[in-house]
Amino acid sequence: MYPPTFENLILELHKLPGVGMKSAERMAFSILGWSDDQQKQLSKAIADVNKLKQCKICGNLSENEVCNICSDTDRDHNQICVVQSEKDLYAIENLGEFNGVYHVLHGAINIPKGILPDQLNIPSLEKRINSNVNEVILALDPTMEGETTAMYLTRLLENQVLVTKLAYGIPFGGKLDYTDPRTLSKALSGRQKEKPE
Ligand SMILES: [Zn+2]
Repeated sequence: MYPPTFENLILELHKLPGVGMKSAERMAFSILGWSDDQQKQLSKAIADVNKLKQCKICGNLSENEVCNICSDTDRDHNQICVVQSEKDLYAIENLGEFNGVYHVLHGAINIPKGILPDQLNIPSLEKRINSNVNEVILALDPTMEGETTAMYLTRLLENQVLVTKLAYGIPFGGKLDYTDPRTLSKALSGRQKEKPE
């Protein structure tokens, strides 16, 4: 039996995705062997996470009111790529092929679970649409929730702006952020005008 302080560290690390008890133990022993400074840096990095906020324009992670992407004047602010999460945003951003801006919904419509459009970052998306915006790209998961959201957004926006959707090469039920970069890149470049059913 470990001393409670050490046991506590293991249990906290075990909460991380993909970290089993054995790995958590190994990590805890590794941290134990670090210098005071290294340990403090780790604590600080974790404590600082709550300083991050949501960009007031797009909902992306940001240290300031407006994120780096929204404040970048070299980007095309008239092309908005809509994603479900920050993870999805970075999956597309890391392709290095998209120079527009984003809008993070923070979820998808899920009627059985009671997640409705007004609980998502959708009203602020509607407000961003003006006559200068020329394309809204829906980069949502190919799941029931993603499809429902895509259909809803298409109906909401199609009379104001061109709405396109990623052309997926991944089976229904897949996740955007787990899609390999090549497939995602193809899905982005092959996007098509969305037609509501
Ligand atoms: Zn932003």
